[in-house]
Amino acid sequence: MSDTARDSDVQLRSALDQVPAYVPGKPASAPEGVAAYKVSSNENPFPPLPSVLEVIREAAGSVNRYPDMAVTALTDALAQSLGVPAEHIATGTGSVGVLGQVIAATCDAGDEVVHAWRSFEAYPIVTALAGATSVKVGLDDHERHRLDAMRAAITDRTKVVIVCTPNNPTGPMVTHTELERFLEQVPSRVLVVIDEAYVEFVTGEDAPRSLELYRDRPNVMVLRTFSKAYGLAGLRVGYAVAHPEVAGALRKTATPFGVNSIAQAAAIASLEAFDELKERVDQLVAERARVVEALRGQGWFIADTEANFVWFGLGDRSGAFAAAAQEAGLTLRQYGDDGVRATIGETEANDVLIKVAGDFLTEHPATVPAV
Ligand SMILES: *Cc1c(COP(=O)(O)O)cnc(C)c1O
Repeated sequence: MSDTARDSDVQLRSALDQVPAYVPGKPASAPEGVAAYKVSSNENPFPPLPSVLEVIREAAGSVNRYPDMAVTALTDALAQSLGVPAEHIATGTGSVGVLGQVIAATCDAGDEVVHAWRSFEAYPIVTALAGATSVKVGLDDHERHRLDAMRAAITDRTKVVIVCTPNNPTGPMVTHTELERFLEQVPSRVLVVIDEAYVEFVTGEDAPRSLELYRDRPNVMVLRTFSKAYGLAGLRVGYAVAHPEVAGALRKTATPFGVNSIAQAAAIASLEAFDELKERVDQLVAERARVVEALRGQGWFIADTEANFVWFGLGDRSGAFAAAAQEAGLTLRQYGDDGVRATIGETEANDVLIKVAGDFLTEHPATVPAV
């Protein structure tokens, strides 16, 4: 009898039964002869800058050594570039890693985490891992957070509220004015996480000035990442900006030596090369405007997006649209029967998206939801 056929008596935590599986963006694939583009994971389509790649190569020469567990140099570089004390920074293996640290530091079984839905799919996962409950507050008709409803969803069991701005996968941000008002109403015992994974792409008016909002509020923290605008998704490095008590708790709950030495070096080099990276971000932002304008011109309802992706609220046509895109070489991300998200990628990929979307509307004229 093979080992795999034996029953296991190992006692796993029952909380694991409640943990949804993370659905990663699919790898690129296309019919033969068609160019393939992966626009399913909101990655930066540009390869690493030559200067960053050089630092990565050099750091690779020392991987027989453990990384700096305290992540000292990167922490100092972040503190300097953000204008905050170094003790306010806590790093982790991507901001998903940091979010896991947040939940591990705050939630016992039965506690509640309030967040919007649809929003980032890691939220219910990291929450369920702690045995805590995800309280999902639906978005409004314009795919935006309903902060009043989120405030109303806070109970005695609520430990954390996550505000995702801009919201993945739908695109809109909350405004500074809205967020400030919201924070005035949240009890100071509840930790508010402002997840700004796409902050570098934001161009809208009254954008949240999160570092201003956290400064005088010990229960507010900011979550950021090197995965999107900085193009280091494969190296797994993100960070929190929080008051010392919270930041210290995040250091305690971090995976020891989690942020590896190559990631630390590459993140520092990327901070130094931000002007160069910003040009790429600006290009993607210009492409975003071009795509949104073209899609709206075709008759689509596309929510305002401040990130590097667009959302198609297709309902039960989501699968048909994803399949049509795949035929054309575009691998995008389908969210069941809610909708489909497409990352703003290379110009060619964006052109294919516009073409597929136009053809789809011609073939399925009743697709666009009324708002
Ligand atoms: C991509 C993303 C993250 C960042 O993930 P990393 O773990 O840093 O790669 C965090 N929050 C949201 C909303 C995201 O979309």
